[in-house]
Amino acid sequence: MTAPVLEVKNLEKYFDTNTGWFENKPPVKAVDGISLTVDEGETLALIGESGSGKSTVAETIINIHEATGGLIRYQGEDITNPLKEQLETIRSDIQLVFQDPTSCLNPRRTIEKSLRVPLKATGVAKDKRNQRVQEMLERVGLTDEYLYKYPHELSGGQKQRVNIARALAVEPRLLLLDEPTSALDVSVQAKIIDLLRDLQEELDLTYLFITHDLSVVRNFADETAVMYLGEIQEKGPTEEIFQSPKHPYTRALLSSIP
Ligand code: ADP
Ligand code: MG
Repeated sequence: MTAPVLEVKNLEKYFDTNTGWFENKPPVKAVDGISLTVDEGETLALIGESGSGKSTVAETIINIHEATGGLIRYQGEDITNPLKEQLETIRSDIQLVFQDPTSCLNPRRTIEKSLRVPLKATGVAKDKRNQRVQEMLERVGLTDEYLYKYPHELSGGQKQRVNIARALAVEPRLLLLDEPTSALDVSVQAKIIDLLRDLQEELDLTYLFITHDLSVVRNFADETAVMYLGEIQEKGPTEEIFQSPKHPYTRALLSSIP
């Protein structure tokens, strides 16, 4: 049996918010000992109300934050406190797509430039970069005419397509999607979801999908984990969670579906 693409065990992240020696606030408990597994080509949805720790999980996995405790394994390898070589693997194999489509795009860079930078950073040969940029743009449904535009000339949905292209440019295996459609118009959300689904199929990607959209969870995710106050209250096959939620918090959450 091959190792799961992602395995998280008893992951803890506490934030120290003290700004000086004179302060003595207790650390903020953002993630409080969660465990999850995502197998190759599968989608795990991570749901739960705002502030429950979902983003912190994703950000700790790619080492934006240092874990306070626990273990993160990528394809069987411990990457909790990554060594330099492991950081390189993480930066190309694992990509995070954020909720805000503008947050990762430099307003002064053309789309072409934004897509080229991660290729350079991960060592893609110079003569291959042009072609890769074009391929990626095409893959997310944007034509060449966007290459030399700036972010402000694009709609939210188009910007998110660029962000997805940027994430794909380095040929990742695992995408961490942090509410990638929450900031978009409803009509655009479905298109981005379709795109993500097609890409998963084509490229055999594995997804950790953070979302508020329960219809997306139901139609998309193989497994679902429900977070509340930094802990996973319940997890299992999506259909089981929806059919017979066991935890009162999950029941409350699912009954909020319009
Ligand atoms: P979610 O993504 O589920 O809305 P977050 O992971 O963003 O939740 O936040 C979980 C908790 O951690 C919240 O209480 C939040 O205020 C806190 N938190 C998140 N990031 C930081 C940070 N950089 N510094 C201090 N506290 C943080
Ligand atoms: Mg969040």
